[in-house]
Amino acid sequence: MTLAIGYVYLITAICFILALKGLSSPRSARLGNLLGALGMLAAVAVTFLAPGVGNTAWILVAMAVGTAIGVPAARAVPMTAIPQMVAAFNGVGGGAAAVVAIADYLRSSPEPAAGTATAVLFSAAIGCISLAGSAITFLKLQEALIGGRPITYPGQSAFNAVLLAVIVALGVVVATAGGTLPLAILAGVSLVLGVTFVLPIGGADVPVAISLLNSFTGLAVAASGFVLSNTLLIVAGTLVGASGTLLTRLMSQAMGRPLTNILFGALGGTASEAVAQEGRTVRRGTPEDIATMLAYSRKVAVVPGYGLAVAQAQHTVRELTDLLEARGVEVFYAIHPVAGRMPGHMNVLLAEANVSYDHLKDLDQANPELATTDVALVVGANDVVNPAARDDPGSPIYGMPILEVDQAGTVVFLKRSLRPGFAGVDNALLFHPRTIMLFGDAKESLTQLVARVKEA
Ligand code: NDP
Repeated sequence: MTLAIGYVYLITAICFILALKGLSSPRSARLGNLLGALGMLAAVAVTFLAPGVGNTAWILVAMAVGTAIGVPAARAVPMTAIPQMVAAFNGVGGGAAAVVAIADYLRSSPEPAAGTATAVLFSAAIGCISLAGSAITFLKLQEALIGGRPITYPGQSAFNAVLLAVIVALGVVVATAGGTLPLAILAGVSLVLGVTFVLPIGGADVPVAISLLNSFTGLAVAASGFVLSNTLLIVAGTLVGASGTLLTRLMSQAMGRPLTNILFGALGGTASEAVAQEGRTVRRGTPEDIATMLAYSRKVAVVPGYGLAVAQAQHTVRELTDLLEARGVEVFYAIHPVAGRMPGHMNVLLAEANVSYDHLKDLDQANPELATTDVALVVGANDVVNPAARDDPGSPIYGMPILEVDQAGTVVFLKRSLRPGFAGVDNALLFHPRTIMLFGDAKESLTQLVARVKEA
């Protein structure tokens, strides 16, 4: 039986690897997701047959409770809240890994198997950091509870270093002398570190924190695999840890900053945040003027951002671009890697509206094109086009590569107000003489533009 389980685990591990491969492209992402889910189902089912697995009734009850919470939550969650849900699920995964490791330690205490203590400590510490850190990213993404800006206090890095030193010291105590109290304190201090580590990360850097915490959860799961001697947990955890680490690297490259700068560089609010709007004027456009300008342009770039997701305007923007193309206008979508609230957010939305992949240009492809673009139509985006990231060394987002829409002939912003984006950083481009604002919900504005382009 153990051999048969081993074979199923091997097939499952292959499913997970193929799932990751599938998820690397929007075309194959659905299949990848399905493969991962099937692999997970097979792994869970076969684990019931493993020697030493008891308490089947309790496990089934726990699974029923988890399913009763998870399935309706995943079905009901609006598209815009998926990043928060991912953060919550990631934190729960890290917490589960920590609880499993601690439970196994308590079960085998006072004589845990040699080498197990280290894995228990690692899983408990990293899992608790991931749980608490993910809870804070959840709150940051929710915005209503705590904003996306960095929350800083004097000596934050030194305080975090002290917490880390305490965790290591407690780990040494548990590994050498054992004891459940030091282990409980270690878990508690790790939870505090998770909070204090993530609170100062803000501005536009939250995506990097999310992927880092994701890799932490993977590592905690892999360590739990060592505790339980379960090869599949080790493989799955390592895959999550490795892919999360790679994603963290890619995201920090996309932000144009070293990871250490993102994690430890938050110094609090700067003067450029929330600059008063008095004394500056904006140019407001009407749907008629903007539609005419779009209809008679040669080249138009659409820059989608988080507001497109909020307004659920992906179908309407496609309708508009179809109309423009039918009139002979060259149209492309410029996609910033951190636009929206999760990696690939814009790709997912636009794929839902069947926008062809040939129309999408990433940052490197789009920027040279923007200089020869007549109109850049910015639909619910802000931070990813904010020139402060390029021009203002004092800005919290300085160094993040942007879509250089200010190089286009005219910039049209579809947004509801002059409020800043997630990073809370003022955007001077809204007040630029070549910028036109069309205030309102992006879907309503686009619907008006569609109607007017049809008449043009
Ligand atoms: P921003 O958050 O910078 O801006 C979004 C804009 O959309 C806001 O200024 C808002 O303005 C507007 N908006 C909101 N709702 C609507 C609506 N219904 N109709 C029209 N406009 C609307 O988004 P970006 O996509 O430009 O940048 C993403 C930001 O999120 C970056 O700072 C990034 O680092 C961060 N982030 C990204 C993650 C990722 O993985 N992609 C994860 C976590 C954070 P107004 O209120 O005036 O309408």
